[in-house]
Amino acid sequence: MSRILFFVLIAVVIAVAWSVSRRRNSLSNEERVELEAYRQRERERAAHRPEKMSEPMLRCPHCGVFFPKSDGVRRADRVYCSARCRDADEAR
Ligand SMILES: [Zn+2]
Repeated sequence: MSRILFFVLIAVVIAVAWSVSRRRNSLSNEERVELEAYRQRERERAAHRPEKMSEPMLRCPHCGVFFPKSDGVRRADRVYCSARCRDADEAR
């Protein structure tokens, strides 16, 4: 009789351990889904970031300041940070 009780006890312990581990797995599944959604949002945010972030920087030959290439003011083969620098360099 005590042997049957022993096996029943083992079966109960296994069932409890199984249900606990299943609950833990389902929780981590939810977390995984949440993490995947978060990563997706981050990727979309990165894709919508303005192009200026990856734009090459140029150095103004007049004042030495760094600026994004698209903000530059061109004259001949030189690119300045502003029209003022361009004009000042021209006057020199
Ligand atoms: Zn300048």
